[in-house]
Amino acid sequence: MSFEWVRGTCPRCGADQVLHHVIGMPVREVYNSSPAWVLWEGCTGPGPDRECLGCAHSWWSHDVGFAEEEDDEYLPPLRVVGAVIIDRDRTLAARRAPGKSAAGLWEFPGGKIEQGESPQQALIRELREELGVEVEVGWLIGRGIGTAGDHELHLDCYWARLRGAPPTASTDHDALEWLAREQLAGREWAEPDVPILEEILDGAEPRFTPA
Ligand SMILES: [Zn+2]
Repeated sequence: MSFEWVRGTCPRCGADQVLHHVIGMPVREVYNSSPAWVLWEGCTGPGPDRECLGCAHSWWSHDVGFAEEEDDEYLPPLRVVGAVIIDRDRTLAARRAPGKSAAGLWEFPGGKIEQGESPQQALIRELREELGVEVEVGWLIGRGIGTAGDHELHLDCYWARLRGAPPTASTDHDALEWLAREQLAGREWAEPDVPILEEILDGAEPRFTPA
């Protein structure tokens, strides 16, 4: 019997110091082969099954990352990530191009999480594909909820900053603008982005883990 233990990373701060809380009593081979960061909890669950030693965030592993294909009983949310890209006191806003969903509305650029990706990895890939930029991903700001067809859509947005040249064009947008914080409220935003916008307008401060 062999198990592969994948520790993963924190969806909030990106640290790899993740504890797994596992409900159940394993057979001896499994118990003996599990790493020190796997904590067997017996038959009672203490709450979320993942915990970050870096930032103290706790979460459910099934609530993060790629959602499996639907079955008869479960329609998984569409999981997408967005970047609040900042440059000094300005923030990048992107307008959905004609022909795209939510055309004409403003959003934070990003896209879908694919199988095997962390949210942060998905964001780096999407911004490379969509805007042709490289970014450093910071901490999670929050989640906006929307709909995508029959699915619920979960948008997790992260602070980000450019590593290199700024974007000049987008595959999904017809306008890219750097806006001061007070200008952000003057645009019409896509529904899932609104709670993120509110966090920013409420004074959320950019946060990055020191390299
Ligand atoms: Zn963390």
